[in-house]
Amino acid sequence: MKSRAIFIVGASTVLIFAMVSRAEVKIFADHNRNESAMPDFKFKSVPSPSESDAATKAKFTIVDGRRDRNGGNVDKLSDGKIPLEEDQPSENFFFNAGTDGGRLLVDLGGTIDIKQVNTYSWHPGTRGPQVYKLYAGDGKADDFNSQPKRGTDPRTCGWKLVASVDTRPKDKPGGGQYGVSICDSNGTIGRYHYLLFDISRTEGTDPFGNTFYSEIDVVEPNAPVVVATQTTKPYGKTFEAEKGKYRITIYTSETPDLTEWAHKELAPVLQKWYPKIVKMLPSEGYQAPRRLSITFSPNMQGVAAASGTRVRCGAGWFRRQLQGEAKGAVVHELVHVVQQYGRARRSDPNAARTPGWLVEGIADYIRWFLYEPQTRGAEVTSRNIARARYDSSYRISGNFLNWVTETYDKDIVRKLNAAARQGRYNEKLWKEATGHTVQELGDEWKRNLKKKIAAETDATAKTKTPTEEDK
Ligand SMILES: [Zn+2]
Repeated sequence: MKSRAIFIVGASTVLIFAMVSRAEVKIFADHNRNESAMPDFKFKSVPSPSESDAATKAKFTIVDGRRDRNGGNVDKLSDGKIPLEEDQPSENFFFNAGTDGGRLLVDLGGTIDIKQVNTYSWHPGTRGPQVYKLYAGDGKADDFNSQPKRGTDPRTCGWKLVASVDTRPKDKPGGGQYGVSICDSNGTIGRYHYLLFDISRTEGTDPFGNTFYSEIDVVEPNAPVVVATQTTKPYGKTFEAEKGKYRITIYTSETPDLTEWAHKELAPVLQKWYPKIVKMLPSEGYQAPRRLSITFSPNMQGVAAASGTRVRCGAGWFRRQLQGEAKGAVVHELVHVVQQYGRARRSDPNAARTPGWLVEGIADYIRWFLYEPQTRGAEVTSRNIARARYDSSYRISGNFLNWVTETYDKDIVRKLNAAARQGRYNEKLWKEATGHTVQELGDEWKRNLKKKIAAETDATAKTKTPTEEDK
């Protein structure tokens, strides 16, 4: 069999031609990278998942391999429901950790014309891309074996190889959302009763190389297409920032009581501050994510967390803080969306790791000293001075960064950010920028704080005492 691959340079769609039999099978593979993958599974050329295709009624069976019990069962592949988030094991089917994939049989219930076979997956890491071979059969051959195990070439028992799919990007992190569409120049791939997927893991360097498959569609000619919906129908509203350059979607479907606050009070802050933060934290050749989402979750413990371009917020904490710290907490997460320091290490394992205190310190510096300085929420006081260290993280490190900015170098945060994102953070940067090591800076900062607090305590004592005595 002859096959060749054609890569359309510069586009996210890869078109692979495989010559099989007389017909020309085409494989379209679209990749929405982490920063642009959204729960709607929209692709450049591959249709979005359908909930009314022939696979919906088909029977899926594991022929070889074991499913991972952290994921959904094999029915997840045909239920017409797609995940809402990039790392949602229960809404995907995947083979067991530490194994190299397996085989899946799809019994279509009878012989049908097949126009397309479409497969969808979503994961922020190496479980995003798809690697599989698709075989098809009508089950009529005398030697037909409907469940050939690994080790048996399906072509020897009544199957035809339709396509070989491998969407792993070359030299790039593979995370994101993938849509693959297998179709044919003739209009149909053929008439078949059975499909067999021989699925491989994408990598074997750790146990987590099995792809998170979200949905498999089998599309008949002229079939009406009903686009699949998320497990939980998300109610999202998109807000544009900087004249449409950035799009921020807020999901409150699971927390309708927060919708009004999120749209009226939070959204304007995001529209104003996301572009501002992008401008504050530039680095050469870097394009900050243009699409991001904020999801309020009733089940999430804690405050908020950012992963890739998605921010999740714990509804319980937000309900208590709507008039307090709520908006600032999201501003902190916006900084993480812009930072993207993990990228350097994903493309180069030798890239320098940025210390966590600095990652959080930058987020809290921007939040407390630039976004809401009037709240004075990151002051070091007599209550917490004893334990304060420059690397205490969060507000304390934010306070330290603010002091270095005001005292030594107004661009220190910009410089540290660029180095962190490019995987070249090093303590020498402090010395280059300020003439002092970070430890010396930390000591001086703390001496100043102590002096300031002592002076304030003194002043309060002096003004208070007489008034109290007067009474
Ligand atoms: Zn944080």
